[in-house]
Amino acid sequence: MFDLIIRNANLPDGRLGVDVGVKGGKIAAIEMALAATAGEEIDATGRLLSPPFCDPHFHMDATLSLGLPRMNVSGTLLEGIALWGELRPMLTKEALVARALRYCDLAVSQGLLAIRSHVDTSDPRLVTAEALLEVKEKVAPYIDLQLVAFPQDGYFRAADGEASLNRALDMGIGIVGGIPHFERTMEDGTRSVEVLCRIAADRGLPVDMHCDETDDPMSRHIETLAAQTVRFGLQGRVAGSHLTSMHSMDNYYVSKLIPLMAEAEINVIPNPLINIMLQGRHDTYPKRRGMTRVRELMAAGLNVSFGHDCVMDPWYSMGSGDMLEVAHMAIHVTQMGGIEDKRKIFDAITVNAAKTMGLEGYGLDVGCKADLVLMQAADVSEALRLKPNRLCVVKDGKVIARTAPRISELLLDGRPASIDIGLDYIPQTSAP
Ligand SMILES: [Zn+2]
Repeated sequence: MFDLIIRNANLPDGRLGVDVGVKGGKIAAIEMALAATAGEEIDATGRLLSPPFCDPHFHMDATLSLGLPRMNVSGTLLEGIALWGELRPMLTKEALVARALRYCDLAVSQGLLAIRSHVDTSDPRLVTAEALLEVKEKVAPYIDLQLVAFPQDGYFRAADGEASLNRALDMGIGIVGGIPHFERTMEDGTRSVEVLCRIAADRGLPVDMHCDETDDPMSRHIETLAAQTVRFGLQGRVAGSHLTSMHSMDNYYVSKLIPLMAEAEINVIPNPLINIMLQGRHDTYPKRRGMTRVRELMAAGLNVSFGHDCVMDPWYSMGSGDMLEVAHMAIHVTQMGGIEDKRKIFDAITVNAAKTMGLEGYGLDVGCKADLVLMQAADVSEALRLKPNRLCVVKDGKVIARTAPRISELLLDGRPASIDIGLDYIPQTSAP
């Protein structure tokens, strides 16, 4: 007797028509035609069942603030940072908590059950940290929320940057952030990487830095981050977010850099929606894409996961909490459209992101947590193509969100009465 059985599901690894049995909040069986009963059964015939989406890079203190106190007129990164600076003194804990909880509602509806959010520590009031720590506790039953102390205005550049970041860590924020390319000089940036890695090593915390989010081919803080990671023995516990400068770097230099990053086991977190939107702004034509070297980094064995970064905030007016939208953009900007490529891109918003975040019990194996998403799509390729409805989101073995399938009624003579976007347009190469 199981608590829940999801029947006849297609899995991300290509297995078709499999039953998944859940008991005590864990996956207890994965087999064909599971001969058992359950308190609840869900028919998943022809649909993809996946572990939940994970977003390893987000800004939950800024999300849903679009329009406050005004819109970003130029749409640039720098005006976004300036605009956030205008909004920051007006932020209240109550409003921050309310917006973050609303975002988490949206995330759950999209099957996004783990989020790593940076928390701006530049304002010494630290209402952002207070608010997000409260949200982390509130959403713990349904979202694994990790928080990064992020010195948005620069660790050394902001007047209280050093003290505020360290106080946020004292308050319980569990990951050390940084923004070396935004410090006053390249030297200050280099020094900030060293100091922040030392703080992480002393406190036993992971590191996740906004690193080289620029089109400058000479912005090389990722090299320093890799070196300091090895120096402090932080291998596998450090993430380099964005790394857009790698797009513009000299190929010879990159041929040395990537092995250094591999040695340090850096987790690479590009943010495709934001990178394609904000980078290359000083170019006329040809215009750079500003996407780091995803294919090459994956080929070198680095763990690459994609972040959503922003949803309706000073930097990005779009976004919907849907990691498949992020992956959809990634496929285009990385030009990774092959079958195996798509599988790797899907991994980057699921298993790779879970690895970046160090999530325990994540995955689709017996013994893993029963955290699952059922989609209105036949397989991984179709999910990436369609960004389909999340029919059912399961957390610890319980259904916590449902969305009806998208079925369009057609009123055309001699044509079908309806179409199911997830089942009626499957290519020959996909699942039957
Ligand atoms: Zn960011």
